[in-house]
Amino acid sequence: MSKDWIVNEETGDRVDWVDCDFTHLATPGVVGLTPYHPGKPIGELKRELGLDDIIKLASNENPLGPGAKALEALKQLPDLGRYPDGGGFSLRAKLAHHHGMRPDMVTLGNGSNDILELITRTFVAPGDEVIYSDHAFAVYALASQAVGAKSVVIPATEDYGHYLRAMARAVTERTKVMFVANPNNPTGSWSTAAELRDLLESVPDHVIVVIDEAYFEYAENVADYPNAAIWVSEIANLVVTRTFSKAHGLAGLRIGYGLSHPQLAELLNRIRQPFNVNTLAQLAAEEALNDSEHMARSVALNNSGMQQLTTGFDSLGIHYLPSLGNFICIDMEQPAHSIYDQLLRRGVIVRPIDNYGMPNHLRVSIGLEEENTRFLKTLAEVLGN
Ligand SMILES: *Cc1c(COP(=O)(O)O)cnc(C)c1O
Repeated sequence: MSKDWIVNEETGDRVDWVDCDFTHLATPGVVGLTPYHPGKPIGELKRELGLDDIIKLASNENPLGPGAKALEALKQLPDLGRYPDGGGFSLRAKLAHHHGMRPDMVTLGNGSNDILELITRTFVAPGDEVIYSDHAFAVYALASQAVGAKSVVIPATEDYGHYLRAMARAVTERTKVMFVANPNNPTGSWSTAAELRDLLESVPDHVIVVIDEAYFEYAENVADYPNAAIWVSEIANLVVTRTFSKAHGLAGLRIGYGLSHPQLAELLNRIRQPFNVNTLAQLAAEEALNDSEHMARSVALNNSGMQQLTTGFDSLGIHYLPSLGNFICIDMEQPAHSIYDQLLRRGVIVRPIDNYGMPNHLRVSIGLEEENTRFLKTLAEVLGN
């Protein structure tokens, strides 16, 4: 592999790399992976189409962004020449207090994605099984396949929810981890307290059950929606993950956490990068945790936006999946990709979810009132209504 460059004969300039196949060098898990497709960034669409007036309802961010308290803390610029507190002492203490547990039950992550990955890297060897639902959050597949796991994907219920009983039945001696998203992204579906307790009681101790509560704050006031974090103190093989990326409005800072038995946390800690959560993220998260006013405003905005969008869908005759998150999945009853493209051309970014096995659906994040209005109007236009 020495002749790495195609060179322009006349000028001697390097023009491009010579093709070089590295896949035979990669681990089997990586060879089988398809990269995660994030929502299209606003800047990218600007570059591609030269549009200026763009709205992005594609990554389930809080349209209000960070709260005033977090922003204030960020303005007091800490000493960025120093490494962050690798143990996250202050934030973990606050989170422990918030959840009524011990700090050694809290693992900080560079986003909760980081925690999901720490879990598979800690517990799953090549050939081990990881169970999750069809249409579940894409990172479960990525984190599992990257370590060479066998993904056991359980068909969803008719309404795209997790079929927990079937997930429990799929457990074998080789099962190491089970991922449950509550509510799930992209479907918005959720499981009740009774259903989850039932699952936890029927899954044997050698399976780590991860309940991913990335949208907890949006859902917590819904009757029957459980707070699985309170079960962590009694169920040793349960990990609950939360994030500051969604309702807390700090997606750009990358911070989330896991709650678990301290000895499980200690194992995750062994492979956690020593400084996985940066200084600014730790500071802002502490403040966000205390900013109940911003949280209340964010949740209220989401509730009214949900109402606005579902009313709009009803009047357009579009079916949608009931959602406890800050997003809704709509059924276009035809391959949705061309609708996605036409929305893009009009400066509206939503999320196609064919990679989730739902080619006829689009996922739209709930935005500010005027963004929702523009989305509904543009969608109506595209559909010729
Ligand atoms: C957004 C999301 C996450 C969290 O991502 P971060 O890494 O914390 O930004 C986790 N799980 C689900 C289901 C999500 O939708």
